[in-house]
Amino acid sequence: MIIIMKAGAQEEEVNHVIQRVQELGFTPHVSRGVERTIIGVIGDERSLARSNFEVLPGVERVVRVLHPFKMASREWKQEDTVVAINGVSIGNGRLIIIAGPCSVESRSQLLETAHAVKEAGAHMLRGGAYKPRTSPYSFQGLGLKGLEILAEARETYGLPVVTEVLSPDLVPLVSEYADMLQIGARNMQNFALLHAVGKVNRPVLLKRGMMSTIQELLMSAEYILSSGNMQVVLCERGIRTFETYTRNTTDVNAIPALKQLTHLPVIGDPSHSTGKWDLVTPVARAMVAAGADGLIVEVHPRPEEALSDGAQSLRPENFARLVREVQALWETLRHIAVEPVTATTS
Ligand code: PEP
Ligand code: MN
Repeated sequence: MIIIMKAGAQEEEVNHVIQRVQELGFTPHVSRGVERTIIGVIGDERSLARSNFEVLPGVERVVRVLHPFKMASREWKQEDTVVAINGVSIGNGRLIIIAGPCSVESRSQLLETAHAVKEAGAHMLRGGAYKPRTSPYSFQGLGLKGLEILAEARETYGLPVVTEVLSPDLVPLVSEYADMLQIGARNMQNFALLHAVGKVNRPVLLKRGMMSTIQELLMSAEYILSSGNMQVVLCERGIRTFETYTRNTTDVNAIPALKQLTHLPVIGDPSHSTGKWDLVTPVARAMVAAGADGLIVEVHPRPEEALSDGAQSLRPENFARLVREVQALWETLRHIAVEPVTATTS
């Protein structure tokens, strides 16, 4: 439930509503906009009547959010959320490109890649220091050493860094080194981890689980938001279907669907959603055309030597071409100025 205060409602009227919400055993979430204050009521609201609040002074109206996700919904917040990551904004009308290797393998490999992706026009650097591998015998990442290398690359090239955090106990350490915390597909429903990243002051990149619905992705985002962290970016990275030719199946539908359902920025990962380097650029174009706010792309100077995900990694020159193409596409789309299709305009 959302309580929308009248424009110009007095501070004591807002406080009175907050107090009432608390008295009824719910947690208020207050969002003060330029025009008006909105108070979200968090908790199992089935027992709560709208009329509990509609009569209070300063209240304009009370809206029930029908979705099970509340704070992630467009009803809760109509304007797009812009997530700021150490100088880079996602969701702010520019196409943001995050690029780098799947794993940090060595200092020279990461610095070489960071240099190349920066030259090609990437805005942020990615690279796994802790890797969630299907096999315990596969390369598991450099751990702390990998975080140190990422931090050095950030200093050298001025690119904010995103890296995966695998477990709640690693959240403080990874937060010390990274500008953004990645929750990988395999951990999308690791609720203890979602709760832990919800408690820190670091933006979160939440990837869709490979067998998760759009609603489940939004419920996972809700865990982070309701734990106190509003800086969440969602990522469509492909889902598992009966198709085996590609590693996953890109759910292009999810991008515009998410943009309708939530105010959170949405980016696409054409690397994991295809698993094949020569499909990455065409699918990146599709993601941008569908309305993604950005892309996260795997790049390796020598994919044949990569310790993980070499088959889907672009060489720097192919990545540079991808950037040129998707930025040109983005510019073209901006000029078309398409009206979003809503239930009332279809
Ligand atoms: C990755 O980004 O390298 C990764 C492991 O992604 P996902 O969690 O989407 O599989
Ligand atoms: Mn990878």
